Amino acid sequence: MGADRRIVLFGPPGAGKGTQSRKLARRFGITHISTGRILRDAVRANSVIGIKVNRFLVRGLLVPDELVRSVAERAITEAGVDNFLLDGYPRTIRQAEWLKEFLSEHHCQLSAVLSLKLSESDIIARLSRRRVYPATGENFHLDHKPPPEDIRTKLVRRLDDTPDAIRKRLQVYRKDTAPVARFYEQAGLLVRIDAAGTFETVHGRVCGALQLT
Ligand code: AMP
Repeated sequence: MGADRRIVLFGPPGAGKGTQSRKLARRFGITHISTGRILRDAVRANSVIGIKVNRFLVRGLLVPDELVRSVAERAITEAGVDNFLLDGYPRTIRQAEWLKEFLSEHHCQLSAVLSLKLSESDIIARLSRRRVYPATGENFHLDHKPPPEDIRTKLVRRLDDTPDAIRKRLQVYRKDTAPVARFYEQAGLLVRIDAAGTFETVHGRVCGALQLT
């Protein structure tokens, strides 16, 4: 990969996109853009967008394309177009097409799309025991990545990490989001990464795929 870093981290909920993105961003100075996090913050702030998207987030449904498009394009523009890591966008073919158009208007294109692969049983095991530290957005797992003692009582379960919402998110992923992988495969951008194993193991695979050391 060249000097430009326009990366998409793609994959089902619970595959580790957020955790891996945060680490890559910190280690290599890439701007991490999580549309999910921006939307959750908007809900918490009770902003106009937050009020519109709350019912989708809580049920594990996708937010309408037009809405999330404007959120993503604003964040990429703020990041400066040459150095960003998209986590959770695009999630539909339409979003992928818009992203392509948006970047070509800026005379550039994506550098790589990493697709994190994980079995459904592993996904459910990860999401049902996931807890988040709201102050930073950092994720923990009650068994595999326990939080430090001093923040333990401040951790919350994401509203969409309930069994019903998890089931819905997986359905939505299979129907609307999985086809995006083919879109990028045809464009020659897709790299598949096995997301099973420890955080460090997967981080090593991700860095290897991106040729980051
Ligand atoms: P995430 O934090 O990436 O798991 O996203 C949490 C939730 O935010 C999703 O279940 C959707 O409701 C919404 N969301 C985030 N990104 C998108 C997107 N690209 N398209 C539609 N909805 C999104």
